Amino acid sequence: MPVSASPPADAGRQSEPPADVAALIPLVRRIVEARVGNHPAADDLVQETLVRVLAAASRVEPGLLEPYAIVTARNVIASLWRQADRQRRNQHRVVDLRPAEEPDEQVLAVEEQSAVAQALARLSDREREALVAHEVAGEDTHALASQTGSTPGAVAAQLNRSRARMRVEYLLALENADPPTERCRPVLLALSSGDRRRQREVDAARHVLECDLCARLSQPLMERGQQRDDEVHISVTSDADVVAARQGARELASRLGFRATDLTILATAVSEVTRNIVRFAGSGEVVVELVERPRRGVRVTARDTGPGIHDVEQALADGYSTNAGLGLGLPGARRLMDEFAVVSEPGHGTTVTMTKWLQEG
Ligand SMILES: [Zn+2]
Repeated sequence: MPVSASPPADAGRQSEPPADVAALIPLVRRIVEARVGNHPAADDLVQETLVRVLAAASRVEPGLLEPYAIVTARNVIASLWRQADRQRRNQHRVVDLRPAEEPDEQVLAVEEQSAVAQALARLSDREREALVAHEVAGEDTHALASQTGSTPGAVAAQLNRSRARMRVEYLLALENADPPTERCRPVLLALSSGDRRRQREVDAARHVLECDLCARLSQPLMERGQQRDDEVHISVTSDADVVAARQGARELASRLGFRATDLTILATAVSEVTRNIVRFAGSGEVVVELVERPRRGVRVTARDTGPGIHDVEQALADGYSTNAGLGLGLPGARRLMDEFAVVSEPGHGTTVTMTKWLQEG
């Protein structure tokens, strides 16, 4: 029986109108059937394709939806055959008991590193420095903005563009491919950044149908580019993730214009709920998102599938610290935030939802 200490905050967010993916079903089915006939996996292939197209729909300009469905169907079918082929080979291994030919992991790691290095080398010095300071040294957009006399919003937008370029250059380096046409890079970049206007301008719809390389790369680009820029997911398994969660929250909140003291308060509360996951559940997830309604603010959802809390009221009572004297515990986190709710099902896990509103004016 779930116990709720206070009602969950209103989940207010506008969403994009749903793309007309249903209209694509006959097309996708035709492609799948043309290639695999009545194979029992045909339905799965159609569904898998639609799931992927749907996931990318908000980042694809309407005219690109159909070509994207076509290349996605082809990619899904190709990866099915690869999988089936791998299974056949593995079955063979079971019979002949020869040592398996594992891909040399070290070789793969070296290839990956060199792809990252090649991709970084293609960025401008400024882009590279900002990206490394942010992703490696963990500097937030606020700090980067004050160093360069810019605004956190402009820095975040620039970082997004740099990341989109990194993804393109990384995949090209991994493929060891020089793009066959002048149009490939602009098309890949428009796909990677999910910029629908650019996709139209460079006629990505036509290009992905004509260019094998771009058709193939469109998949990993769209899949990796799905994260929203007003939301951060941190999967939590160790103390290092406490830092990542805190930074993620600070980062988003600073973009909204939170005052320094409120940033610290928010980061402290996020640390507490994340630490709780590490200590008591072992693993879980923290999601930080910007909300617009009923006011502007930052919402944090910390979820785990741990043992749960048997007495939520008691766990939230002042003076009760689940950390046995260390840190603030849940009551402390609750005092720091404007809204705070705990839902726990013993044996199934705990979800903490908390919100800090922007103090305007
Ligand atoms: Zn191309």
